[in-house]
Amino acid sequence: MTTDVVDAETPSRWHELAPGVLTLRTSSFGVNVGLVVGDERALVVDTGAGPLEAAELYGNVRAVTDLPLVVVNTHAHGDHFFGNGYFAAQGVAEFWATSRCSDVQADSEDQRALVADTEPAMAAGEGEHTELRPADRLVQGQPVDLDLGGVSVTLFHLGRGHTDHDLLVGAGNVLFTGDLVEEGADPAFEDSFPADWVRTLGKMMALEDLYDVFVPGHGEPVGVEAVATQLNTMRQGIRVTRLAMDEASMDMTKAIPILPYGPEQSRALLVRLRTLAHWKWLTRKH
Ligand SMILES: [Zn+2]
Repeated sequence: MTTDVVDAETPSRWHELAPGVLTLRTSSFGVNVGLVVGDERALVVDTGAGPLEAAELYGNVRAVTDLPLVVVNTHAHGDHFFGNGYFAAQGVAEFWATSRCSDVQADSEDQRALVADTEPAMAAGEGEHTELRPADRLVQGQPVDLDLGGVSVTLFHLGRGHTDHDLLVGAGNVLFTGDLVEEGADPAFEDSFPADWVRTLGKMMALEDLYDVFVPGHGEPVGVEAVATQLNTMRQGIRVTRLAMDEASMDMTKAIPILPYGPEQSRALLVRLRTLAHWKWLTRKH
């Protein structure tokens, strides 16, 4: 599906999900970037993994609209926000995220190595537009409605999940979910709060009267059934992992083959649940 807001002569990487609501997949990490076009401003959801990718993305945005831009970051993983510096250099002044996301973004030097293959300057922290550019327009708890001129976009946080600061972006019937929803791959548990994530997906499903297209952080847009499937699979995965953790004598890695995920994310889920259980024990009053 090709958008009709783009000149028919121009090959476009955008897909129009609803009138004025588009998505494009970045070439490095396959992040689904969003674009929502109003009458006065346009909003970009996530900025790619560094200045090279951001420049390409910016060119694609400018093929659609010349309007002033607002940026939203779904969360503080480098593949989603390392392009902020480039967008700032193009005059973008508003970068929205949750307040916790902004704090993590400012403290993300250790993520640079993740983009070494495709963004060597960003990885080295040397060169133009390679500074970390945290969001400075903050969503603190209550949803925020942004008026783009005839089009309103809602930014909101539903609870912990893929991270402790995931922001959702609702535009018309389309919901950009960041990495809270994953299509075509396992959800990424490294920085997650698995039990909360299940609850957050439940809250997301309850929004099905408002939204019927859910744009995952990576992979194809899905319907609410896929969110339900991810929730059920995750609930089962947590149950199996916890059972293994309760078997004190059992080598927990034996649970990995029976988990509903591949080895990498099964291990990440296990490590994460074990770490969170340990924190809980440490902070308990004895
Ligand atoms: Zn992520």
